[in-house]
Amino acid sequence: MSVSRRTLLTAGATAAAFAAAGTSTPATAQTGGIDVHAHCIPNALIPVLKAHGAAHDIEVVESAGETRIRLGSLTTGPLDPRLSDLPARIATMNRTGIERQLVSPFIGLTAYHLPDAAARWYSRAHNETMAQTTRSAPHRFTPMATVPLQSAGAADELVYAVEQLGMAGVEVSTDAGPRDLDDVSVEPFWEAAENLQALILIHPSASARVQLPYRLGNFVGNPSDTTLAIARLMFGGVLDRHPHLRICLVHGGGFLPYQAGRLEHGFRVYGGEHIKTSPLELLRRLSYDTVLHSPGRVRTLIDLVGIDRVLLGTDYPFDMGDPDPQGTLAAIPGLRERDRLQIARKNAERLIRPRAASSPAPA
Ligand SMILES: [Zn+2]
Repeated sequence: MSVSRRTLLTAGATAAAFAAAGTSTPATAQTGGIDVHAHCIPNALIPVLKAHGAAHDIEVVESAGETRIRLGSLTTGPLDPRLSDLPARIATMNRTGIERQLVSPFIGLTAYHLPDAAARWYSRAHNETMAQTTRSAPHRFTPMATVPLQSAGAADELVYAVEQLGMAGVEVSTDAGPRDLDDVSVEPFWEAAENLQALILIHPSASARVQLPYRLGNFVGNPSDTTLAIARLMFGGVLDRHPHLRICLVHGGGFLPYQAGRLEHGFRVYGGEHIKTSPLELLRRLSYDTVLHSPGRVRTLIDLVGIDRVLLGTDYPFDMGDPDPQGTLAAIPGLRERDRLQIARKNAERLIRPRAASSPAPA
């Protein structure tokens, strides 16, 4: 199941260069931001998939200078080279006032549509190579896991990732492949995540959506998916059953904050078989990133959910991300310096398990 150490060491030269770039003390240390929404494809993952992926119906497809990965019946688009360019990542972090990134998988690289055994193998390979990558500069990066959410092995993989690899938590898609997040089969995962106090980044994936024109799958489909996913967790009773889950929604929670009144009204008029706590109360238990491309709307979010529930994010390295996250914070109307620091780093420090944030994982 484990990725061979020899394969991991193949990426040693890159890791060494990465470590050299990452060990210089950034000007932002102590005051810089913690970016909770960034993506990374570990350099060592591609060699592992090339060497061992075929046995699990996984293929690295290289053509015309582009790399795609086929996971069962699904093939990603061309992988963005910025996802694996570690020196460029650190340079960008230094330039934009980011002291630490929580690095999550590229959401297109989940194993939710693979058969059970292959999905478990892929998730383990991804998590081990991600941990290896971030171990090169543990003061700049905190790794986030992926798990085979459609599999009974999801909870076990999360325990392994957090306890053995020192990961802070896990990124999950807005669906569990063929199942939804409130499906009873996902319940052991939520229970494990709550017990571990793991951070759960819920992130939309346009890959399974009906194709929409004009990039609307990204502009509208993604926040729509997030809104529907969290509403299912509310009305399906998951958030009531697990009140201590540490969930962060990307893109400012999609349309949820703007439509919170509608959900609340629906709850009051119709009630629900599973939901016990009001949506307005539940949404104040969640956290949200700042990737809204509107300082005014971040202000709206703060006013709704509270200053302690908003976290700095960038969606690095994508074009729909925030290229100037500290500038966004500075432009939020009525934000005091104390509030800015809370969003920039203190809220994230509270949510990241101390062991994962402060010490490297065992080799
Ligand atoms: Zn993202």
